[in-house]
Amino acid sequence: MEACKYKKKCGGCDYQGLTYEEQLEKKQRHVNRLLKKYGKVQRIVGMKDPYHYRHKVNAAFTYTRAGKILAGTYKEGTHDVVDIPECQIENLECKKVINTIKKLIKSFKIKTYDEDTGYGLLRHVMVRKSYYNDEIMVVLVLSSPILPSKNNFVKALRKEVPQISTVVINVNDKNTSMVLGERNITIYGKGFIEDKLCGLTFRISPSSFYQVNPEQTEKIYYKAMEYAKVSSKKTVIDAYCGTGTIGLVASKNAKEVIGVELNKDAVKDAIINAKKNNMRNIKFYNEDATEYMLKASSKKQKTDVIIMDPPRSGSTEEFMAAAVKMSPNRISYVSCNPETLARDLEYFTKNGYEVKEITPYDQFPFTKHIECVCCLRKVD
Ligand code: SAH
Repeated sequence: MEACKYKKKCGGCDYQGLTYEEQLEKKQRHVNRLLKKYGKVQRIVGMKDPYHYRHKVNAAFTYTRAGKILAGTYKEGTHDVVDIPECQIENLECKKVINTIKKLIKSFKIKTYDEDTGYGLLRHVMVRKSYYNDEIMVVLVLSSPILPSKNNFVKALRKEVPQISTVVINVNDKNTSMVLGERNITIYGKGFIEDKLCGLTFRISPSSFYQVNPEQTEKIYYKAMEYAKVSSKKTVIDAYCGTGTIGLVASKNAKEVIGVELNKDAVKDAIINAKKNNMRNIKFYNEDATEYMLKASSKKQKTDVIIMDPPRSGSTEEFMAAAVKMSPNRISYVSCNPETLARDLEYFTKNGYEVKEITPYDQFPFTKHIECVCCLRKVD
């Protein structure tokens, strides 16, 4: 396939123009350079088909002076919308939803929001597609809760993309660069979609974190399990657990699992997901992971396994100090940023743990991002 013609305007894909093999090589070299000194780095696991893997698609909208509608990302460092009608990494059906909305907002006379002046209604649209079930969730991020002719709008949208199973208005009336506001109003369907990963069912609400590349995610979760060596006598902490995905996969084989997550909507989903999958040996705490670990370690709580999957900023030194105190035999670290992973491995390897193995995954083809799963073992 040729390099994307919107490459320069969009700026989302740093590795456009390289063959897939070249991309994987570049990522492998980067991971080796950063992480090899801590332990064995395996060959990066790529995708068979690296196109259209993103099952979550966002777009901002605007009218040009001539009355044309643009839909896509912001030009870096500005609030100028760049029109991106086609994308090599976004799921095609999700993109069709964005392009349909682009057509509809004119006939429905919906005003697009201006980030600089604060006028207008439609700020963003977020579309999420389930990988296993043919379900699509559309989240219309509006500056006010009222969408005129909303039922007809949903009808017109579903006529073009019948897989849309739910439509939610997310109210974001703040002057912020955050895409989503706090309030969700379901105007069609259940207000969430469901997906399957590793044989379990997961509910995904508009504000919950859920991995965007389901095909690679499954491989990553299985590797995290292999490294964690969970068995029926073991207690497990799943820190930064999102909607409970990894912890629930672990709970199939563990004695007991504790999931910790800061986002309250994700925790609500996690509790529902545990019930849905009949897992009774898992509990969730809606808390900052570091706070939880500090409390647990000061109560002398022990754990056999810690699985951790922090955001790009990585973990904190307090978290890791508490983790070391709780003395797990294994730590399975899932990381979306090799730089912060290196920093955190520096701490763990100086404080009684060794890196057994690291496996990088290409979770985000065409971009520079790299996911790694790392197996840490307590040194006797
Ligand atoms: N393991 C999950 C989520 C990983 S993403 C999955 O695979 O789906 C990282 C998660 O960490 C997000 O859900 C985010 O909300 C959460 N998070 C970010 N900062 C946190 C903190 N300080 N304490 C607990 N959770 C946090």
